[in-house]
Formats: sequence, C-alpha cells, structure tokens
Amino acid sequence: MPDQHRRRREALARRIADGTEAADAVLITRVVNVRYLTGLDSSNAALLVHADGEAVLCTDSRYAGTARRVCPDLELVVARPTAETLTARAGKAGVRRLAFEAHDVTVDRHGTLTAIDGAPEFVAAGRPVEELRLVKDEEELALLREACAISDRAFAAFLPSLAPGMTEREAAIALERHMVDLGAERPAFHTIVASGPNGALPHHRPGDRVLARGDLVTFDFGALYGGYHADMTRTVALGEPADWQREIYDLVLSAQLAGIAAAEPGADTRRVDRAARTVIADAGHGDHFPHGLGHGVGLEIHEAPLMGYDKTGKLMDRVPITAEPGVYLAGRGGVRIEDTLVVRGSGPELLTETTKDLLVL
Ligand code: ZN
Ligand code: ZN
Repeated sequence: MPDQHRRRREALARRIADGTEAADAVLITRVVNVRYLTGLDSSNAALLVHADGEAVLCTDSRYAGTARRVCPDLELVVARPTAETLTARAGKAGVRRLAFEAHDVTVDRHGTLTAIDGAPEFVAAGRPVEELRLVKDEEELALLREACAISDRAFAAFLPSLAPGMTEREAAIALERHMVDLGAERPAFHTIVASGPNGALPHHRPGDRVLARGDLVTFDFGALYGGYHADMTRTVALGEPADWQREIYDLVLSAQLAGIAAAEPGADTRRVDRAARTVIADAGHGDHFPHGLGHGVGLEIHEAPLMGYDKTGKLMDRVPITAEPGVYLAGRGGVRIEDTLVVRGSGPELLTETTKDLLVL
C-alpha cells in the first residue's frame, strides 16, 4: 500500500506543478484526502506535498504510532495544530505559493494560517484530490466490491426475521447487526427503514412505527469495509401488494434499469439522470421523483460525480456510482431501488446483487 499512496502523492504533485495556480506545494487538510494520500485514517492530520513529490505528514500523538506503521516512508511531524505546523514549515522550506483546500479551510483558520510569521502566499487549489479520487484503482474497487457483498449477505440474513409487529428501529438495528457480524467495520451511514406512509419520505429516520401487513418497506443501507462505502436500497412488500404498489414498483425498476444502461464511459451525468427520469415522468410521476439519480461512492458515502438534472459531469471507466430512482406518494408510501455499480467500457459492473424482483414476505 505505501507504493500506491506514493503514486497518488506524485500525481497530486504533478497537478500542482502544472496547474494554473503554479504553486510550489499544496497543504491537504481534509482528513479523508490525507487518508487517500497516506493511508492514515484519523480525525486530525494534515499533509504538505511539494511540487517535486516530497511530502511531510503532521498528526497528533494519538495517531503517531499508526502513522509510523501505515506510512513508514513518509516524514512524520507529531504536533498540533497540524495545518499551522506545516504552514510554518513550508515557509521555512522556501515555499512561496502554497495551494490549499479552500472547500475545507474555514475563514477563521485561513486568518490564522496567513498570519503565521513567514507564511507563504495562500492560493485556492480547487479540489485536486477529489478529482484524483474520482477514478478508482482496482484495489479500491476490490474493497468496495467486498463492502457491497457484505451488504447483500446481511440483507439475505436479515430478511427471514422481518415480519409485521417489529418497529422500524428494531429492523434497522437488526440489519446493521448482520452487517457488522458479516465483517463490516460499521454501517456506512444511518440505515433507513421507511414503512407504509413513511416510505414517501426519501430520507425518513427509522422510528417507532410498527410494520404492518400491506406495507411497502424501504431499506436503504450499506456496509463500510476498508474505508469504502456500499450503498443499496430495496423495497419489499409485507403481504400481497395492492395494484398501485406493484405499479410504482415496476415503474421504479424500469427507470433504474434505464439509468444503469445509460451509465457508460463518456456519458454526461445529466443524460444518465434523464434516462431514468423520463421513464418516471412518462408515467405521470415526474413530480414524485424529487432527487437526483445517484452519486459517486468511495472513501465517502456521497462523492463526485453527483448525478442530477442540474449537475454537469462526465462518467469515466472505473467510476463507482449509485442508481437510485424512487417514486414517493405523500400519505401513501413509496418505492426506491438502489444499486452500487462501476462504470466500465465493457458495460456496467453491478456490485450489489440482491434480487430486484419484488419480494413479498
Ligand atoms: Zn442509499
Ligand atoms: Zn445513495
């Protein structure tokens, strides 16, 4: 792994050296980006990468031992505050223009950093690390594939216990327990269980509602594995579904398949969203699908590319995304179906494989 992280730092250094900012170095303060570039998973670290690829990691004493183990090839400074320490160091090393992550550094902290004696000139770097993170390498995809496999297995293990009489919260906890038992570090995000009328709320928080026969129940969940986030949704029926329930289920599934089919390298993300959205709109439910088709996943649960009608971007080979259309009928219920998949030149690779036939329990 150290090799892989060094390659990532070198790619970042090339970008900084060639970029319009023409900076001498870049200060990375988003901890998820520090993790991507070093392997260190922490809540407090910063990384200084010079345009020639040389790098210095700064973290506090809580993470020093881990840092020495996971990135032994990196110069380590144990101090806090981290960004301030590296800024002073950059100034001493002769850095004149220091690129920084303007989407992470607060106005407050920017004031502190620029006031440091001998500080370089700070120039906004854009989001160079997020851009590098967009296309995954095969090692990352292997971790994501395992996160999705754990999620599939957990859902299969959970389903036999799902029955009328349990609450949404009980169902959510049981499903999360299966994910952890099957090897997840933890759930990748707060599990959504939305039953009956609550299914009309796309991000319903599971509560004390008791599941009942006649409900559609939506489960949106995923496992975290090796830092990578799985994300999947299935809607199941408790008892024989009513005609309207089956109708919107079939509609959402058709839309989801259309979206997945459009997800190919080079595709405009708006066009992929539209491929799914048109199916739902043509059935008269356009107003009942109020969110984007999907999003990238990786070291974060929501990352680039975001796929919505108002989002621009292009899909590329080896970019993992979700496809998650839904139809939500206020007061009645809803359906969402979501998979995590990888965009490939040879056709989309589905990572979540649980059946999408309507499960009637
Ligand atoms: Zn989801
Ligand atoms: Zn999602």
